[in-house]
Amino acid sequence: MKFKIGLGYDLHRLVPGRPLVVGGVNLPSEVGCLAHSDGDVLIHAIIDALLGAKGEGDIGQRFPDSDPAYAGRASLEFLASIMEEIKGAGFTVVNIDSLVLLEKPRLLPYIDSMKTNLYPLLGISPQNIGIKAKTGEGLGEIGAGRAIASWVVALLNSSG
Ligand code: MG
Repeated sequence: MKFKIGLGYDLHRLVPGRPLVVGGVNLPSEVGCLAHSDGDVLIHAIIDALLGAKGEGDIGQRFPDSDPAYAGRASLEFLASIMEEIKGAGFTVVNIDSLVLLEKPRLLPYIDSMKTNLYPLLGISPQNIGIKAKTGEGLGEIGAGRAIASWVVALLNSSG
């Protein structure tokens, strides 16, 4: 067995008239992510952590925002595609842990739904997914409600 760890990060601006999607869940919000896809920072950071653990690339190289084919796409589809690649290379996910930095709404009521979206794709039980919400305490761009960010670590196991 060979363990590999990966780190992912993502940030998007929040603007009026856009959906706010985190972990594949549409959150009630007057602002949403300015992004080419649905702007799901948690899934984008998960993908970067998985690719980092595998030792290659990032989400921008796989799904470039210059390609109209990816406009408005659900990031869950991107994660499904990356997981096929991860499994095809002989890796399984052990666990992921994450932080979502967002001033509002409170994420706690939605975290179980996020895990329900994520665990079948990741091939792990919901207990092996950590999702923790933090506000910006009113400070900086996140605290002012103008941005959302996410940090993720992922542990992969290679049988090869
Ligand atoms: Mg992104």
